[in-house]
Amino acid sequence: MSKVRVGVNGYGTIGKRVATAIAKQDDMELVGVTKTRPNYEAKDALAKGYGLYVPEESVEAFAKAGIHIDGTVKDMLGKVDIVVDCTPGSLGEYYRDMYKAAGVKAIFQGGEDHSLTGISFNSTANYAESWGAQLSRVVSCNTTALLRTLYPIDKALKVENAYVTIVRRAVDPGDSKGGPVNGLEPSVKLPTHHGPDVQSVMPWLNINTMAVKASTTLMHVQTVVAQLSQQSTTEEVIDILRSAPRVRLVKASDGIKSTPQIMELARDLGRDRSDMYEIVVWEDGVKVVGNTLYYYQAVHQESDVIPENVDCIRSMCKVTQDASESVAKTDASLGIGRE
Ligand code: NAD
Repeated sequence: MSKVRVGVNGYGTIGKRVATAIAKQDDMELVGVTKTRPNYEAKDALAKGYGLYVPEESVEAFAKAGIHIDGTVKDMLGKVDIVVDCTPGSLGEYYRDMYKAAGVKAIFQGGEDHSLTGISFNSTANYAESWGAQLSRVVSCNTTALLRTLYPIDKALKVENAYVTIVRRAVDPGDSKGGPVNGLEPSVKLPTHHGPDVQSVMPWLNINTMAVKASTTLMHVQTVVAQLSQQSTTEEVIDILRSAPRVRLVKASDGIKSTPQIMELARDLGRDRSDMYEIVVWEDGVKVVGNTLYYYQAVHQESDVIPENVDCIRSMCKVTQDASESVAKTDASLGIGRE
């Protein structure tokens, strides 16, 4: 079978990581990435040997800056089977129409609404739903995290109700514009959108979410309280999480007490950009009392959705029917589970 030709529209936090991951797949070809401004990231993409494409209105700026381009976004669309849209949320409708006109499939990210695509994706929970689809959406970093752990727990023990509080990072590490720099900011529009977003993949799950923005850049932390339909034990839940794909158990008693130590571990693992693709659960912070389960998990917002985007391409382009086969292939290419 010939390789799937992939373009990445938007080369920011998510787009650059998706491009790196696609370039590692032996069943995919990275045709190119797009940039709007001739900045250091555009130069980096060229240095990496990626095709560089720009919106029509940016052509002149790149010419003035003396940066070579391979064409416009429309030119790139003429060369690909599928585009992974990593532009900031809100450009979705504009680009969806452009992809449709070009006859290419498209994956959007969690900043867009489920209604844009009608299908939302998570490798663990609903790989098959995007099979052959023209459009799909990889859900947000927080939603991906909740699906990775709640789906296997629900499958084994049936979750009657889940109550989640998300302590959100204020901005990504590379962003010097946002905040708060010193403060905690609750999301007052309740319940937050995260619960309905989980339901775009697990519509049967009763889930209630709140969120607080905190002055940190490294990771989000989620606290989960789940009411189970049956009595269980702490050990049983830990076993479920241990065998769940892309979930990593760590122990506070080993010295991993907070998100800085998780990111230090990620640096020690030596992966691309020191990313932690797995959802990290504190094993000694899992507790079951009767029917009630409590746990904490940490989410590396810049990278947990990256393997999901690779699997979503395989589902939409009908490359691999078996979800676990795609997950294993993606994980091997990114170094997940190698240690
Ligand atoms: P970002 O701002 O880091 O990157 C967006 C990129 O798109 C930038 O390079 C920007 O120059 C480019 N861009 C802007 N306008 C464009 C246009 N008209 N055409 C082409 N490119 C354009 O944003 P991000 O954090 O990578 O987020 C991208 C998407 O991924 C959003 O939907 C976001 O909600 C989602 N997401 C972000 C995170 C995160 O924590 N950063 C996590 C999961 C999902």
